[in-house]
Amino acid sequence: MSLVQAALAGDRRALARVLSAVENGTEEGRAALATLFPKTGRAHVVGVTGSPGAGKSTLVGRLAAEIRERGQPLAIVAVDPTSPYSGGALLGDRLRMRELATDPGIFIRSMASRGHPGGVAHATHDVVSVLDAAGFPVVIVETVGAGQAQVDVARLAHTVVLVEAPGMGDDVQALKAGLMEIADILVVNKADKPEARQTVRALQRVHQGVTSRGHHGPGAALPDEETVAGWEVPILETSAVENQGIAALVEAIEAHREYLRASGQWNNLVRRHIRAEIEAWLWRDLLALLEARVGAAGLDAAIDAVLSREKDPASVAGALLARVLQEAEP
Ligand code: GDP
Repeated sequence: MSLVQAALAGDRRALARVLSAVENGTEEGRAALATLFPKTGRAHVVGVTGSPGAGKSTLVGRLAAEIRERGQPLAIVAVDPTSPYSGGALLGDRLRMRELATDPGIFIRSMASRGHPGGVAHATHDVVSVLDAAGFPVVIVETVGAGQAQVDVARLAHTVVLVEAPGMGDDVQALKAGLMEIADILVVNKADKPEARQTVRALQRVHQGVTSRGHHGPGAALPDEETVAGWEVPILETSAVENQGIAALVEAIEAHREYLRASGQWNNLVRRHIRAEIEAWLWRDLLALLEARVGAAGLDAAIDAVLSREKDPASVAGALLARVLQEAEP
């Protein structure tokens, strides 16, 4: 039996090895993806993002337990582009996750910025595809660090849960980070703290502001066609440590999936994701071609030409592209 077949048959070690190949962007990984791809498209991909310290990891642990209780297997992918750890180290070190990891219905994968030529966002996409093909009906993608990964998750997940917490300053963190527009569900975690009410009110105010300014219109962080129209973003309260509000969160996540399906927007969303994926591969291949045909010396020469103001960057790019296309022809 091939490694891919073993992974599909439920062999977790085989699955982990396929994921490593895919994550590292090896030929074997690319072949595995091509084989697995027809089996993808079934999982509900849920992104969980928010500022560090908001309680995302704790909450994801509770979410996972609740989803398991409802009888569904699930996979968790933790994305930390800033982490120097290699796969497994990050979450495996945490006791909570070790407990979860003993459940055969839960598969946990940590990702860091490693070998994948397309970067961590691209690698995450591929890892999620493999987990989807492997039959996990739910894949939770948790962004561990802050930054671009938080925005990237919106181009990968069907449902984005944005986690806020009280006591992190007066401001709504997500607003500062420009993340409000990517949220399908807003969560105020640490609702066991009295200050949580204040955070909920602040979020309601901000959210109204965002909506009236055009949550799904001009001025939003994501272009119009990248947002989901007609969905009323709920603001939920949870306490991950006290295990409160978790069932309601799972229900909101399911309601969002149903909304996407019933409104026909699921397909639009998936089309956009696929387009972004194709573009990402094109980028990768084009850059590889550039490297192969023009080389580091050629690129250096191009940079020098701009540096000395002999040429402008756009013209240089055009000339490079022409060279790549010309020389790429048989
Ligand atoms: P992350 O950085 O967003 O993943 O946050 P963590 O899950 O690592 O949690 C950060 C800290 O907040 C930890 O000390 C948690 O124990 C604590 N924490 C998480 N959820 C809650 C909660 O619901 N209530 C309270 N009081 N503390 C929480």
